[in-house]
Amino acid sequence: MTRTVYVNGEYLPEAEAKVSIFDRGFLFADGVYEVTSVLGGKLIDFAGHAKRLQRSLNELEIANPVTEDALLEIHRELVRLNGIEDGLIYLQITRGAADRDFVYPKDATPTIVLFTQAKPGLADSPLAKTGMKVISIEDQRWGRRDIKTVQLLYPSMGKMMAKAAGADDAWMVEDGHVTEGTSNNAYIVKGNAIITRHLGNEILHGITRAAVLRFAREAQMVVEERPFTVDEAKAADEAFITSASAFVMPVVVMDGQPIGTGQPGNVTARLREIYLDEMRKAAV
Ligand code: PMP
Repeated sequence: MTRTVYVNGEYLPEAEAKVSIFDRGFLFADGVYEVTSVLGGKLIDFAGHAKRLQRSLNELEIANPVTEDALLEIHRELVRLNGIEDGLIYLQITRGAADRDFVYPKDATPTIVLFTQAKPGLADSPLAKTGMKVISIEDQRWGRRDIKTVQLLYPSMGKMMAKAAGADDAWMVEDGHVTEGTSNNAYIVKGNAIITRHLGNEILHGITRAAVLRFAREAQMVVEERPFTVDEAKAADEAFITSASAFVMPVVVMDGQPIGTGQPGNVTARLREIYLDEMRKAAV
């Protein structure tokens, strides 16, 4: 089946979808994105992603070309047209096409593109049973990581460094403290506390993070939002990551050293279960 994508108001076969070479997303990475997962044909936490999208656009003074209701309809239509049971929907909005200039153009029309990726069994990834291996790398990204821009080259380089080291991902480190994973938020569990970096410009404000911390607090778990070091991570009882595509995923090795027992931990497993149960119930 040819994939149908959405570009500026039209649903088209992917080979027919086109964006200008002058698009500022291409020339300046002047655009933002969101990724929403689909489980059982329904969208997980669509409202959370729509809210963060608006925040990212506001920070960059890009006009939102669609209302939240219209955006929901586009997501649903793409799920329907592509027969997605489990998968991901990528959305990108850029400032649009304009003659090349660092100054934001006054008259550009934002470009909006959405496409799907089918991921059968997305919530049953074998990594959830075995756990991930991570390496630590220096965080060399820019300083506005709270804006979800399409500028993903350093995370991409980080993934390549992880792959070269035989690991699944990299945790990035700034001033001795872990910021986040290349495409996920990072957590450790020590004693009864779940520890994850506080929100700020240094990390992306994960939509999954917000939900998982809410569920953890509702389950009377202790949450500490503060920076933690690489040494603390290596001495932790458990570690895990969260993201819209991985949900809650255990991390069992860091820089070749086992974390805790070297097996996925109970707190992580419980959070994963609560997250998936609750979010499936609330899916739209
Ligand atoms: N941090 C970074 C750098 C990311 O790229 C992502 C996922 N896009 C996340 C955290 C997790 O965010 P979310 O839970 O909203 O997917």
